[in-house]
Amino acid sequence: MKISVINPHGFCAGVTGALRKALRLADSPGRSLYCLHELVHNEIVVADMKKRGFAFVESLDDVPEGATVLFSAHGVCPEVRARAAARRLNVVDATCPFVDRVHRAARGFAARGMPVVVIGKASHAEVKGILGEAPDAAVICSVEEARAVGMPGGPVGVVSQTTMNADEVREIVAALRERFEVETTADVCNATKERQDAVKAFDGDAILVLGSASSSNTRRLCEVARCRAFRAGTMDELRALDLSGVSHLGVTSGASTPESFLDAAVRRLEADYGSGAPSAGRDCDCR
Ligand code: SF4
Repeated sequence: MKISVINPHGFCAGVTGALRKALRLADSPGRSLYCLHELVHNEIVVADMKKRGFAFVESLDDVPEGATVLFSAHGVCPEVRARAAARRLNVVDATCPFVDRVHRAARGFAARGMPVVVIGKASHAEVKGILGEAPDAAVICSVEEARAVGMPGGPVGVVSQTTMNADEVREIVAALRERFEVETTADVCNATKERQDAVKAFDGDAILVLGSASSSNTRRLCEVARCRAFRAGTMDELRALDLSGVSHLGVTSGASTPESFLDAAVRRLEADYGSGAPSAGRDCDCR
């Protein structure tokens, strides 16, 4: 089997910046360190941060007064910031600047009294944070929902989660424009777009996306592939894949997947499939 690493792949600028902040904190002794939600959606990164002393919490109520808390790259809503200040927590904000830009756009639309549409998954941490800026916003993630969503009269402000499928975002905005006057900043971030474009351009017969099942941008890479797509977030998941019959495999990784995992995975694949002795396992379920 021929194996090609697809570029660009792996850490984006937002994840790199968030991890730099986390490592700086871990290097400063004598602090109790907390991270509100997963810093990035990757189990290898989270396990490493736990080893470095971070406790992961889902609520600020679980952070003792005066302790240090890291906000994740996905951003938080204004109410969380206010609560952290009220509890005199030492906040280190690792929100990605591209997510921050979406917050500002949603806040601006809401401040002008415009109805707001967020294109994204309502359960995703990034969307929950954006909704804090425009609490009455409608969340949609398909063309069908764009055709059905109800809005009051006047222009509609549209923003999107940064890690959606770029083509779908365009189609959803077009469907909204058929029904409403739309003002929009909706788009995925550059890192998401570049990684999706590279996967779409790959002309082999299968793609392996390395990243956690909880990672939105990882799942989108599986979605946009124009060939069979597999996903693995750990070496156990990689070993369980059945790649037999694949002649040219493209390997890429989500924006929160460490390069060390991609290197180890490629070595494993060369050992397992370079010899012509594939291991048995399951197909990808990420589509
Ligand atoms: S995927 Fe985009 S928005 Fe998300 S952290 Fe990376 S650069 Fe920022």
